[in-house]
Amino acid sequence: MKHIHIVMIGLLIAGTSCQAQEQKQEQAQIQEENCGDELMLAKDGSSVSTVKSASGESMSFAIDKNNDEWKNELSPEEFRVLREKGTEVAYTGKYYKFDKDGVYRCAGCGHTLFTSTEKYHSGSGWPSFYAPAEEETVVTQRDESHGMVRVEVMCANCGGHLGHVFEDGPRPTGLRYCINSVSLEFKEESDNEE
Ligand SMILES: [Zn+2]
Repeated sequence: MKHIHIVMIGLLIAGTSCQAQEQKQEQAQIQEENCGDELMLAKDGSSVSTVKSASGESMSFAIDKNNDEWKNELSPEEFRVLREKGTEVAYTGKYYKFDKDGVYRCAGCGHTLFTSTEKYHSGSGWPSFYAPAEEETVVTQRDESHGMVRVEVMCANCGGHLGHVFEDGPRPTGLRYCINSVSLEFKEESDNEE
């Protein structure tokens, strides 16, 4: 009889401790799932902004700042060109007559956009490139402002306005990326690594 009692108690203890372990595991799983949800929300919500392009398709950019934040970071002229799609006066930009070797980054977010390799003198009055640094560094959209139909070029990282692209460029692409100096920040080749 004593033996049976001991065995019963033993089973009971084993049973309850098993249950406790299961509960712990369940809690851990719930916590993991919550973490996953939070990550999803951050990905879908706060870090990506969406704008409507002229053609109606929506574009999203990794850098999402409101106009007040941009105003704090940019000079008035940078804000006018990058965020309000302005244009610098022809022949006045700092990179119009400029031939150093290096990369041109976005003045808004630092994203590499163009390199000196693709820069050429178009005579248009603005820095001109026949191609971006990489195909995906810029995005384009149809622009029907000012009574013209043009293709606007924007930074693929922050959506900042850079200029327009025309089909009268040199080989090998036949394209002319007509870009505002104000939208660019030049970095010489030697200090690329930092
Ligand atoms: Zn940018």
